[in-house]
Amino acid sequence: MRSFWEYDALTRADVIIIGAGIMGVSTAISVKERLPKARVLVLERGILPSGASTRNAGFACFGSLTEILSDIQKNGEAATVRLVEQRWRGLQMLRQRVGDTAIGFEQHGGYETLFAEQLPAIDSLERVNTALRDIFASENTAAQNVFSVQNGRIAEFGFNQNRVKALLYSPFEGQIHSGRMMQALTELAVQRGVRILTGADVLAVYEEPTQIRCVVRHLGNTTSSSTVDFVSDQCVVATNAFTQELLPESRIKPARGQILVTTPIHNLPFRGVFHYDEGFYYFRNLATPEGQRILLGGGRNLAFEEETSSELSLNPRIQAALEELLRTTIAPNLQYDIEHQWSGIMGFREDKLPEVRRISARSSIAFGCNGMGVALASVLGEEAASLLV
Ligand SMILES: Cc1cc2nc3c(=O)[nH]c(=O)nc-3n(C[C@H](O)[C@H](O)[C@H](O)COP(=O)(O)OP(=O)(O)OC[C@H]3O[C@@H](n4cnc5c(N)ncnc54)[C@H](O)[C@@H]3O)c2cc1C
Repeated sequence: MRSFWEYDALTRADVIIIGAGIMGVSTAISVKERLPKARVLVLERGILPSGASTRNAGFACFGSLTEILSDIQKNGEAATVRLVEQRWRGLQMLRQRVGDTAIGFEQHGGYETLFAEQLPAIDSLERVNTALRDIFASENTAAQNVFSVQNGRIAEFGFNQNRVKALLYSPFEGQIHSGRMMQALTELAVQRGVRILTGADVLAVYEEPTQIRCVVRHLGNTTSSSTVDFVSDQCVVATNAFTQELLPESRIKPARGQILVTTPIHNLPFRGVFHYDEGFYYFRNLATPEGQRILLGGGRNLAFEEETSSELSLNPRIQAALEELLRTTIAPNLQYDIEHQWSGIMGFREDKLPEVRRISARSSIAFGCNGMGVALASVLGEEAASLLV
């Protein structure tokens, strides 16, 4: 039972977006850019976004050589080049929207560590550089290759040279502070007039002849009613890994990712974002007021089935494997402890391509950044907004 005031003003919108991760909030901003007068309401089930956007590694990246080669094998060269182009464009859009300072952007470049088994990838370096050249040409760095071999830095960075056999470098990758990025993006959305309600768990979405009706769990007063209906003309579902809860037929699965962060490390010898093994592992320096730390994540490929989960818990087996990789290969000569450990839930589609499309007269979906939402969400949000009538 809603009051007149709730009915008339608080539970109505022109556009409802479900999910306040980077995709939902970016979509909301784009809707306001396109339709400034539209009442835009974002419904988020967590007090904080509760999937991937505030639990990721903060790479402002577009894909390492081995990941791009794997994508080419899966989807062909044209589709892969288009995806890299979208990621690159999305990164520029995010930076322009909120500003580098607000998101803690630093450009130390990106690297890929190759172990013996990945060395054959170098044979395809020239081909991939040629395929991607035009995307980065506007950077006035036409002379620079997207990827180049920089083996001299393996020793300089202190890696175990018995394991790391080659190092690839890309000048175009950077890193962000994901918490500050989501805060800045949310503030921008609110400045533009978007309303964001947290603690709003959407239990079901009904498309009725004249409106969309979102049924939201009501925790405020359980004695009178346990749900509240929010209504709108149109709706965008941006719930990523959790989408099957609302739309069981959607083709996206949860993929949990594990992360650890060390204590500050004296004289950490490297800066930048580092990929390993088709992006299944990733590490970076993390600048904090107390000093430089290492953030390391990944290992999902050690337990694909267990990690097809939307439960935000740690997998001790994967965390142990990450610690071993750190101790034996990445930082064999450094002193540190593990200070933070967490997991986050990505949404993966079989073909690793994102999905933005209208699913009915009044509803669209926008999801499937497949582990690269920092880069992709701004352009996909813009695409989702363009579907609204
Ligand atoms: C460990 C890890 C490391 C990563 N590292 C990187 C990286 O370095 N660089 C990069 O680009 N990407 C990275 N990613 C991927 C990136 O974080 C995601 O691609 C991106 O955050 C997806 O954004 P999203 O908004 O689509 O999904 P989410 O951030 O998951 O947002 C979906 C939101 O919907 C909400 N929701 C779900 N169901 C409902 C409902 N029924 N009602 C209301 N709200 C609901 C959820 O609570 C959630 O907040 C990483 C992800 C993880 C997990």
